[in-house]
Amino acid sequence: MTKMSPLLERNEQFAATYTPGPLGPPASQVVIVACLDHRVDPAIVLGLQLGDAVVIRNTGGRVTQAVIDDVAYLAFLAGQLLSGQVAAEGLFEVAVVHHTQCGTGFLADPGFRHRAAEVTGLPEAALEATAVADPHTTVRADVERLLAAPSLSPKVSVSGHVYDIATGRVTTVLDARHPQLAGTN
Ligand SMILES: [Zn+2]
Repeated sequence: MTKMSPLLERNEQFAATYTPGPLGPPASQVVIVACLDHRVDPAIVLGLQLGDAVVIRNTGGRVTQAVIDDVAYLAFLAGQLLSGQVAAEGLFEVAVVHHTQCGTGFLADPGFRHRAAEVTGLPEAALEATAVADPHTTVRADVERLLAAPSLSPKVSVSGHVYDIATGRVTTVLDARHPQLAGTN
């Protein structure tokens, strides 16, 4: 027995009626970047089914270099899978979703951040960069960061959203736009 045991039982039920899907671009043509917080699971919040959307999750849902690298590879892969049938609107939209009451908000406090750095060995500056104190501010910064990334395909658009833990509602902060339009909004 492990703590996974009850979840593995649920998997048995899942596998009993499962039908595998083919490798292809996500049905919704959306790649979601979201926080790893268990209260903000995009599959539940956005009603995703298997194959609907790529979901990248990390602490805060921040656009880190690792996320930028993943998006660059996904764009290449989508281009290969679509092989010339790329729709006029592009390969996919990256939706960055930050949320209220994010646990990273504590990292905006210098004392908390200092203790976290001491105990974990992580650089204090890196912890500060992770903090989502105001999701409306950080989601705007992260959309701009991704749009400014040299590796971002011009066929990829980026949008920004905030999920409110109190209401369950997702609000769009920045509409989707392509990198060549960066800085004009
Ligand atoms: Zn969070």
